[in-house]
Amino acid sequence: MTRMHPGFTGVVQHEWPRPRGWRPPQQLDALDVQTLPGVGSTMARRLRGFGIGSVRDLLSHAPRRYESAVDTISISQLRTSEGEVAIEGRIAGVKSRPLRGRRTLVSALVTDESGGSITASFFNQPWLVEKLTPGTHVRLRGKLGRYGFEPKTYDIGEAKRTADFAPVYPASEEVPATRLRELVRAALAQHVDALQDALPDEPVLALRRDAVAALHFPSDLAEAETARRRLALDELVALQLVVARLRTTDAVAAPLGRPGELITRYRETLPFTLTEHQERAITEIDLDLAQKIPMQRLLQGDVGSGKTVVALYALLRAVENGKQGALMAPTATLAEQHFLTLEALCTPLGVDVALLTGSIRGSVDAPIVVGTHALIQTEVEFRDLAVAVVDEQHRFGVAQRQALVDQRTPHVLHMTATPIPRTLALTIYGDLAVSEIAKPPADRKPIITAWVGAERSSDAYSRLKVHLDAGRQAYVVCPLIEQSETRIARAAEAEAERLRRAELRGYRVGLLHGRLKPAERRAVMRQFKDRELDVLVATTVIEVGVDVPNATIMIVQEADRFGLAQLHQLRGRVGRGAEQSYCLLVSRQKDELTETAEARLQALVDTTDGFELAEADLDLRREGALLGTRQSGWSDLRFTKLRQDRDLVEQARAIATELRDDAGPWQDEADRLGADADHRGLA
Ligand code: ADP
Ligand code: MG
Repeated sequence: MTRMHPGFTGVVQHEWPRPRGWRPPQQLDALDVQTLPGVGSTMARRLRGFGIGSVRDLLSHAPRRYESAVDTISISQLRTSEGEVAIEGRIAGVKSRPLRGRRTLVSALVTDESGGSITASFFNQPWLVEKLTPGTHVRLRGKLGRYGFEPKTYDIGEAKRTADFAPVYPASEEVPATRLRELVRAALAQHVDALQDALPDEPVLALRRDAVAALHFPSDLAEAETARRRLALDELVALQLVVARLRTTDAVAAPLGRPGELITRYRETLPFTLTEHQERAITEIDLDLAQKIPMQRLLQGDVGSGKTVVALYALLRAVENGKQGALMAPTATLAEQHFLTLEALCTPLGVDVALLTGSIRGSVDAPIVVGTHALIQTEVEFRDLAVAVVDEQHRFGVAQRQALVDQRTPHVLHMTATPIPRTLALTIYGDLAVSEIAKPPADRKPIITAWVGAERSSDAYSRLKVHLDAGRQAYVVCPLIEQSETRIARAAEAEAERLRRAELRGYRVGLLHGRLKPAERRAVMRQFKDRELDVLVATTVIEVGVDVPNATIMIVQEADRFGLAQLHQLRGRVGRGAEQSYCLLVSRQKDELTETAEARLQALVDTTDGFELAEADLDLRREGALLGTRQSGWSDLRFTKLRQDRDLVEQARAIATELRDDAGPWQDEADRLGADADHRGLA
């Protein structure tokens, strides 16, 4: 079977030097980055900050852009040159020596026709000693430094120009782009052959190994784009297969009858009327629930748009039919927050809500159960689970696994704040039904966002106190630090203590972080809900799910360190009532910020629209010194550019449809995509 894929005509071929002791391909997912030369535990931890844990993650860390070509000059002109240049010549000699901290330095003497010669220094690429044999032609891009000519990129052997298009990676101060280049080179040199193709009999496509090599070190920009699209197609096919698996299920669900008395009471106890969008979603859900085919519906709506009341509606439909409903959140903290929200809404209805976290087994009998995604995967036995709501998890397979265990499959409602345009969501997620809450409740005033320089942060606190004195509540989000959970917790504790003594003296300040015991966390959340606390100092654990409409102002400390999606989520904690709400982003001064940090903050000041921010995020994604990227992505696709690659989505769908019954090697690919998304917390 040969398929033509327009846009993949360029077949790139790269020779990668094999280091001595090269071993056959291994599972790149299982291969820790620490197996690469020069990567110790510190570097490994920093890389994890980017979501890079395995060699595959590293090779999937796509360049954000490529530096353009530079002037090629002769070696004798080097002394008078400034900035980056390219030189070409032949190797006259090479040697290697160890540096401090398990680093190595390979120095090669390069001469050219101008009669000039220079020592070129390569860090942490010990295998180059084997490649840079005397007489070898090289083309190097870099500049003069302490160790002679320091190439940032290079080509060895026949004349290529890949050195002219140096990859620029999403990087940070701790892991500079140059270091990432070294690491990617090392990973390619050792492991490029492990990048096997899922479709080996497709000669028209560039091989995956070549695509990955060209992604990192292309000979021109067109080749880089071809490579990216090739890898995008791979991941889209895998995604389509994940989705296709859901559709082929012949599981049977319990059809639920018409809404009854409990639903009537639920509507009556709500302190507001549902919006048109919420009503439409509910109608769509009711139609699904009446079927024997299990519901697979995506409920999409921006932060604060009112998804939770719709989700509870679906759960209560199960309850009034004498069955159970379950809500699953990605983390225990989120589960607790959902629990508090649902409990408050269900108590007046006389419906019990149970919270199950930790390792639970045995049978559950409560009509509504809230827990993490583990709920459905572990050995919990539901009496009769009819409706499952899955929050912020883009893997749709979870509930299906339950189907293998049970005779009956629950109806599943997936909730997401991921703002993907509806049409695109439909194509990406296949035939998954989508309900969209496109507008928040009408009485909402857009949150006013201001950007405050750190030197004026006391103004921000004065502003906050005005709100507190008027009986409102507030959040202070602690700076993001790349540390262990324990250290983050300690830093948050110290910050809360400091605020109690300084800016927030005389106010009731509570603290929420991920290291509190579940019961403690619940107690704090309850106190804040019940207005026994004025201010909640918190880490990013409050990102999703916290719902206290009386909180009208938020200060985010060191806001420039957060990702755009994350800030948008955080900001969504205010503006949940009719009152005008504010979000104050405190950051370093403008001239100390990177361009992209500035662009992120400006985007937040400019708009509260999640769709617009998602677009901006696609452009700025994974940029700068972003910590906690694990939580910040809006998309779990690494190579796909949704706006540009709609044609690929279509192609991927066609391929996946053909492969549905016999996915062959793609099956691993699809499984990996799921596991990958899980691992990065984006799922
Ligand atoms: P989401 O889960 O989409 O982020 P929530 O469901 O938590 O949003 O709703 C945000 C806030 O808006 C909550 O305080 C909720 O009680 C309130 N809310 C929901 N629907 C309405 C409505 N129709 N009118 C007024 N307020 C509403
Ligand atoms: Mg919510």
